[in-house]
Amino acid sequence: MIPVMKPWLGPDEAAAAAEAVNSGWVAQGPRVAEFERRLAAKVGAAHGVAVSSCTAGLHLALLALNIGPGDEVIVPSLSFIATANVVRQAGALPVFADVDLMSQNLTADSIEARVTSKTKAVIAVHQVGMPADIGAIAKVCTAAGIELIEDAACAIGSWFRDRPIGSHSRLVVFSFHPRKILTTGEGGMVMTTDEQLADRIRRLRQHGMTVGAYERHSSAGPVVEAYLESGWNYRMTDIQAAVGLVQLDKLDEMIARRRLQAERYRSALSEVETLATPHDPPYGRTNFQSYVLRLEENHPESVAQLIARLEANGISPRRGVMAAHLEPAFAGHPHEPLPNTEHLTRQTIILPMYHTLSDDEQDRVIDQVLDR
Ligand SMILES: *Cc1c(COP(=O)(O)O)cnc(C)c1O
Repeated sequence: MIPVMKPWLGPDEAAAAAEAVNSGWVAQGPRVAEFERRLAAKVGAAHGVAVSSCTAGLHLALLALNIGPGDEVIVPSLSFIATANVVRQAGALPVFADVDLMSQNLTADSIEARVTSKTKAVIAVHQVGMPADIGAIAKVCTAAGIELIEDAACAIGSWFRDRPIGSHSRLVVFSFHPRKILTTGEGGMVMTTDEQLADRIRRLRQHGMTVGAYERHSSAGPVVEAYLESGWNYRMTDIQAAVGLVQLDKLDEMIARRRLQAERYRSALSEVETLATPHDPPYGRTNFQSYVLRLEENHPESVAQLIARLEANGISPRRGVMAAHLEPAFAGHPHEPLPNTEHLTRQTIILPMYHTLSDDEQDRVIDQVLDR
């Protein structure tokens, strides 16, 4: 069976995890601090704060901006449901805006149409790694006096204009779930340009505590922590960070391979007029975290039929990105019409793409999609 995704893990990750275990320091400690420094340097962010997941990071990003009950946050419905869930978890109201058909992302116009006097922020997703036009989006946010948070769960190693995602906004959050490109098992990181926000998020991830265990352990004199506010336990472990450091060294290679695979898919599949293949937007570069193929309405096969045929032939694709407003969790949640979102979630399929997918295996996928 050819899966849709397989993380590229090997003996180096296993050795790094074992080294952390053997050191006796397994919770948040020196490896987490090093992972934060190295990833921040890699993407050009001033600060990185590692957390237990991207979901946790987005939750803390909202709390650090004091967003809560009575506030509205604009999000795409076309996203993994965590993007909308975190707004509810902060006590605020998620307001769904529609996305662009090509990039699958919110646009400046779709956001502007949803701004009200209660809007406090936008969570702009770089869907499946495809950069959103955060230049235009930031302009709308600045004009409206609202915050921009980037849900960059899938976008590590993607670029907007001349810099990596992670370096542009006050708050950008990555995921290291195995379905993404760089994995630590579970995990995430908040990147920020703002030192005060970084301090607050560090505190909120560890019960509101001013000093973490490792700082206390490594300081010369006695250190007594204070609890400035009630926080969460959203910490990453040193075992996870050890794996993340090895994965970080492989990131560029992983993205280069995916871009080659994307080009192989494009050259074979774009010949079919009723198939729309993904490509870089004019303002940036995607990491192809997932390869999302769109079937035009007049394509001879439905997405469900194509998935069934691929599965019968040893290939395990996935339906395209979900739409939160169509799920029972958001039944009855008010929203304006979302035509592009509904078209995309119905008409897209995710094809297998991962580092160790061989050319022969990819050709099998292509042959099956083309039914030849
Ligand atoms: C995967 C994903 C998340 C959640 O990431 P976790 O690290 O699993 O919490 C959030 N948003 C988007 C767009 C995602 O793809």
